Amino acid sequence: MRPTVIRKDPALLRVPPHLADWSATRASFSWNDARAALAGLPGGALNIAHEAVAVHALGARAGQVALRWLGTDGDAIQFTYADLSALSNRFANAVRGLGLVRGDRLFLLLPRIPELYIAVLGALKAGLVVSPLFSAFGPEPIATRVNLGGGRALLTTRLLYERKVAQVRAQMPTLAHVLLAGDHAQTGAPANTLALDPLLDAASESFDTVATRPDEMALLHFTSGTTGKPKGAIHVHEAVVTHYATGKYALDLHDGDVFWCTADPGWVTGMSYGVIAPLVHGVTMIVDEAEFDPERWYRILQDQRVSVWYTAPTAIRMLMKAGAELACNFRLDALRFVASVGEPLNPEAVWWGLDALGLPIHDNWWQTETGGIMIANTPAFDIKPGSMGRPLPGVDAFVVRRRREGEVTVGVDLIESPDTEGELALRAGWPSMFRGYLNNEERYRKCFVESVQGRLYLTEDMVTRDADGYFWFVGRADDVIKSAGHLIGPFEVESALMEHPAVAEAGVIGKPDPVVGEAVKAFVSLKPGFEASEALRRELLGHARKRLGPAVAPKEIDFIATLPRTRSGKIMRRLLKARELGLPEGDTSTLETGASWS
Ligand code: AMP
Repeated sequence: MRPTVIRKDPALLRVPPHLADWSATRASFSWNDARAALAGLPGGALNIAHEAVAVHALGARAGQVALRWLGTDGDAIQFTYADLSALSNRFANAVRGLGLVRGDRLFLLLPRIPELYIAVLGALKAGLVVSPLFSAFGPEPIATRVNLGGGRALLTTRLLYERKVAQVRAQMPTLAHVLLAGDHAQTGAPANTLALDPLLDAASESFDTVATRPDEMALLHFTSGTTGKPKGAIHVHEAVVTHYATGKYALDLHDGDVFWCTADPGWVTGMSYGVIAPLVHGVTMIVDEAEFDPERWYRILQDQRVSVWYTAPTAIRMLMKAGAELACNFRLDALRFVASVGEPLNPEAVWWGLDALGLPIHDNWWQTETGGIMIANTPAFDIKPGSMGRPLPGVDAFVVRRRREGEVTVGVDLIESPDTEGELALRAGWPSMFRGYLNNEERYRKCFVESVQGRLYLTEDMVTRDADGYFWFVGRADDVIKSAGHLIGPFEVESALMEHPAVAEAGVIGKPDPVVGEAVKAFVSLKPGFEASEALRRELLGHARKRLGPAVAPKEIDFIATLPRTRSGKIMRRLLKARELGLPEGDTSTLETGASWS
């Protein structure tokens, strides 16, 4: 049996940690002080890209490598802070030349190529709002998000354009420009698109960063709920204060670090910590274009001399599957700190880190809406494997029980006793807190509640807190699915399935999976005249994959006579899941009588 605590001795750490005294730092911390550590712009303005590259390009870090890009085919390109700043200035001038103005929304649908990083920084400098899309999305999630966000421009590649965008282009009426990264010198860009390269070549390298207000929208990250369309979480330039503070306290970034965040910038982790936080700290960040491969990953850790590594439980579980012996073939002596986020991290994975990497994995918790890490295990403190750690400086976290009147939350009761399950709530007011769901003020308002502890944001995550203040994840309060670290809304999957002529209704759940956490599983009932068959199952799987892309589509489909619904007509996904897993069905008093299961 492994012990329940991994003891730390701060004296043994190779670099003195930024967070050495939890209570004292929390007591003295203020967000205003954190903000004062950033350069800012005249008149109280703040711009993420100014902090990330422009200030370094003007200072001692100008010649330091900001981004080392590793291509799938083995090429590598380095960009110094001066390079990144100049290229992003070109991008800012180029989009301005196209008539894009402050506040316009630029969507990015890109693999992890240098243009992605240049575009994020250039667009933010120009005062545009950046909305990243995951490149494994299919045409439907892309069009839905661009339309919800009123996208004015989209930057993608020829390949992705031809496979996923061209067919839905006419369904995205707000899109004035589609820009294509990559070399189009030989072939020319397809009709109705513009090649990015010539625009960058023609643009000037100098640009005065737009003096955005701290509360001005900078990033739009789409996230999924249980019902309805995806929600566009609004993040503002001031979020950079959280990225800076958490890069310091949760990731312990120091001068000279080589940092690798394996998350794709199509999701919030890849943006906050795969672009912004490391650059603000002036470290060297590694970007790997290729998909996961155990040997390649160990080689990167070794050859790039990665010192701080931020990854995800699914990736760690896949490395575990590849065997700890593989890790032994590599010298990982530069590695100093390893952290993980996105899904529960099994205690075995924390221990595996010690065996294979010589370091435990430090779990931390946050979500799209929080914009940055809120609860974390950090270098100097004991780890209780299975726990997400403790709230960072500037973060006040509570365990609460909602008081409801019907379906409406009217207040909360704080749960003080340890080890008692409740919902995780955070005191509103940290800089990277989302400032709205785009065009959905009511949904946003429902996330907050007044309490004796002030205004609280309700996370919809169920947790417990132990007597030492460590938080433990229990599960989601809603039906969203976490698969390979990606949040998937069942409704979006159900809607795509129901577009198939054979499908009468669909219910989608997350089925526990040893590697990806949860796998998307769908139950469908068929319209009269259609027969369940293996051929139809395969056709439906293919249909969903084509519409939604491999990241979102179900991996399994079962046929079912009718779906269990509440009397008000809502699909009881909880019941589908309980039955799938052979678990107790819980309260079924709202189940519509007559619903059958076969
Ligand atoms: P997203 O908004 O896509 O980043 O997903 C956020 C959700 O992922 C959270 O609300 C949790 O349900 C889950 N999550 C994130 N980090 C952790 C963690 N360390 N442990 C357990 N669940 C996590």
